Amino acid sequence: MSANVRVSTVISASFSYFCRRFHRWQTLGLRVHSIMKEQEKVKMEPSFLYNDLNVFLGKYFKEKVQKISLNAGFSCPNRDGTVGHGGCTYCNNQTFNPDYCQTDKSITCQLEEGKAFFSRKYPDMKYLAYFQAYTNTYAGLEELKRKYEEALSVPGVVGLVIGTRPDCMPDELLDYLARLNRETFLLVEYGIESTNDATLSRINRGHTYQTARDAILRTAAAGIHTGGHVILGLPGEGHDALMAQAEAVSQLPLTTLKMHQLQLIRGTRMAQEYAACPSGFRLYTADEYIELVIDYIERLRPDLVLERFVSQSPKHLLIAPDWGLKNHEFTDRLKARMRERQTWQGKLYKLKSAE
Ligand code: SF4
Repeated sequence: MSANVRVSTVISASFSYFCRRFHRWQTLGLRVHSIMKEQEKVKMEPSFLYNDLNVFLGKYFKEKVQKISLNAGFSCPNRDGTVGHGGCTYCNNQTFNPDYCQTDKSITCQLEEGKAFFSRKYPDMKYLAYFQAYTNTYAGLEELKRKYEEALSVPGVVGLVIGTRPDCMPDELLDYLARLNRETFLLVEYGIESTNDATLSRINRGHTYQTARDAILRTAAAGIHTGGHVILGLPGEGHDALMAQAEAVSQLPLTTLKMHQLQLIRGTRMAQEYAACPSGFRLYTADEYIELVIDYIERLRPDLVLERFVSQSPKHLLIAPDWGLKNHEFTDRLKARMRERQTWQGKLYKLKSAE
């Protein structure tokens, strides 16, 4: 290598190093600013408990907004053998399909039925089409575009929420979604489930935490609101592991986070494991779970939007835990307990360096 080439290689490497550092400082600076604003909010609003999804959506929409779940007829690479067979050990997709959400109905039909259900009470309501069942980025680009755009063409639909696996976001789809995001509200929601690779392997997720991290970084870098989903109480994950998880997910550039309790669902591999060895599972009572969620929330980044804390599977599919609480009843109890404990989201959050 000539001296000139070597000098220019060194200059170019230094420049790219500088750019990377600058980007990190800038990102950290923006994050610190947003976190400080949130911490300021706690002082200004002593009643602040956590960032609520409706308040977040209120920044984008004047009207009340409701998600309508869809089953768009996708499959899952962790079921069809592409990534794995049998799916995640806890998964029974029937648990997240409301009655109107059947694959033999078109996307338009499912959305119209969902709208008819909700608009009785709120005639001015707007809707987000929620591609929820299975893996909603698992198809060819043309099919995906057709389905997303069909949903957006339904009157009253003002945006999309797309739930998917982190190993199903090819660059060409991300480029398309980045363009779509300039025209409509878009949130891409990834199943993280756990930040621990041993747990991910045990529940047969078929991807590592690094895969989830990469997908979230790429999606957020494309300017798209990025959501995460975690399950609290997976086998082998006790209190300390979950507190470490709260700190880890807080380092990701997530806009929203959903969490829910581990539920044992009929017909799943996990249900068989539980029947064979119940002592391998820690199932929480509602009160214990409320304390756990509060401990978790205290460690979360204060500007994360918290979308959900529990899941409610249909009674006929649920083995345990059966708390008999509706989501809003759980949330009311959670808030009351947060007030008693005089705590709020991010109270124990520690800002980590971007290094
Ligand atoms: S939870 Fe999602 S990724 Fe896992 S098997 Fe079910 S549909 Fe597939």
